[in-house]
Order: sequence, then C-alpha cells, then structure tokens
Amino acid sequence: MSYLTSPHFHDEEAAYAFVESRVWADGRSCPHCGVVGKSGKLGGESTRIGVYKCYACRKPFTVKIGTIFHDSKVKLHLWLQAIFLIASSKKGISANQLHRTLGVTLKTAWFMGHRIREAMRTGGLAPMGGGGGSVEVDETFFGTEPGKIKKQGVGHKMKVLSLIDRNTKQARSVVIDDLTRSTIWPVVKENVSQEARILTDQANVYKGIGREFSGHKSVNHATGEYVSQSEPDVHTNTVENYFSVFKRGMKGTYQHCGKQHLHRYLAEFDFRYNNRIALGVDDVARASAIVCGISGKRLTYETARSGR
Ligand SMILES: [Zn+2]
Repeated sequence: MSYLTSPHFHDEEAAYAFVESRVWADGRSCPHCGVVGKSGKLGGESTRIGVYKCYACRKPFTVKIGTIFHDSKVKLHLWLQAIFLIASSKKGISANQLHRTLGVTLKTAWFMGHRIREAMRTGGLAPMGGGGGSVEVDETFFGTEPGKIKKQGVGHKMKVLSLIDRNTKQARSVVIDDLTRSTIWPVVKENVSQEARILTDQANVYKGIGREFSGHKSVNHATGEYVSQSEPDVHTNTVENYFSVFKRGMKGTYQHCGKQHLHRYLAEFDFRYNNRIALGVDDVARASAIVCGISGKRLTYETARSGR
C-alpha cells in the first residue's frame, strides 16, 4: 500500500496523533507551565481537535504551541504532506511546487517551506572528528552575493563552507562572507575536535591549520590529484559529492535563493544528507525525524522574510 494513503496525510485527528506521539514521546507537557502528564483532552463536540486542558495551570493548549506550526491556519495533515515532500526529495521542493500540490497560496507555501527548514536545523552539536577521526573541509560557491555584479571567478558568488566527519558520515555547512583565514579557521575550530585530522585541497587558506589539530593532509587539485597516491584515504571527495547534490538542488529548485535565506537551505541539505538512506534512514523515517525537530522552533513571517 502506498505510504501516501496513511491517515495522517488526510485526516486532521490522525495528523494530530502523529505529531503528538513524536513531540510528547516522554509525556504530554503543558507549554504554559511545563508540567508533564497533568492534562486531559477537552471533550464535547464544540471543541477543536487536539485541544488539551492543563490541570495545573488550567490553560488550554495544543501540540502546535511553540513549534513551527504555531499560529498556522494550515491544516496539520497538509503540513505533514509538505514535510514528507521535502523529506523525500533529494533536491528539495520549491515554494511553487508546494503551492500547486497542497493548494495553499504561494506566500503560505513559501513560509511553510522555511518553517520546515527551521525544523531541520540542528543546533548545539558535538565537535566533529572526535577520537582522532578525519574531517573533510571545503568551500563551494553559489549564486551572487547581494550588491555584487556577476563576473569571472568566484569573488561575486555566495560562499559555503562544509565539513564532513568521515566516521559519523555527517555534514555541517555554514554561509561564509569571504575565503580568508580569519573567517574560515574559527568555523573549523568551533566545529572540529582538536584530536581530528583535517583533510582539504591545497588552497592557501588551509596552510598551517594542522597545528590547531592533530594533523592536516591535502590533495593538489590543481595538478589533477584527487586522491593521494601514497595515502588513499587522503581526499575531499566526500564533501565534493555533498556539494554536487547541494548545487543540483539549488540550481534546479531554489535558484532565486537570497543570501539571507541560504543558511536555511543549507540546514535542509545537511539534514537530508545526515539522515540519508545509506545510513539506514528512509523517506518515512526522515519525515518523522523532521517532526521530532519542530519544538522550540517558532518562526514568524517577519523573521523568515528577514532571514534571521
Ligand atoms: Zn500548565
């Protein structure tokens, strides 16, 4: 049977139950006073689906409060359809596509996409390369920096720095303003354990970075070296593969992305990469993982617009 026929994609009550079972996996907590397990479903025909009353503070609440669904008038089952579409599409889903598929306005679709990306954002993560692992570091370029004119080279393009932990096979990407040492090194030092070995190409900016870590190896792309002859595990092919998926998605789906929104698209591509089928995470589990990340991610339209 098709997964798309699952009740939580069509039935509002089933959608609430689906979200509640993930957000309240450790017990139903009141978003007003924080008390867990002291609430009951409001009965009666006139009450809305998913409304509970807290017996501690006497206030009503639903699972949407404080999540990406906060204040949204879009039905929860449509939200779950949107989440599944974004979770299962390697290159992402444009606001236009969401607008056409879900039958919501383009503005609503755009906002939904950004709220779902917010749920895909992971924060406060452990350093990469712990226990002496290897971390690949590389940059890529996309679109045009605000206020810059297109020309030869990459100076006018938006810049992304990605790190990939070889052991955990996880990616972490950030938007950077330039390719200087004072921009790149702090990002690497903040995200990578000192015991790690850094793997890069031979860009000047990485020269000497090994003294901050247990070591640094590089391959010389300029001379056509993509894998070190003497040490076959010295390469940056993993991060380059990541970039190829990212760039195909950005070109094919999100070509008009402004710099203020780029960090959210990076969160989306990082999330799909870090929850990919090669790591045993299928489309259904990936969508479920997004729902597990909706809490504490309230995002207003103004905040989304300004890209904060
Ligand atoms: Zn309460």
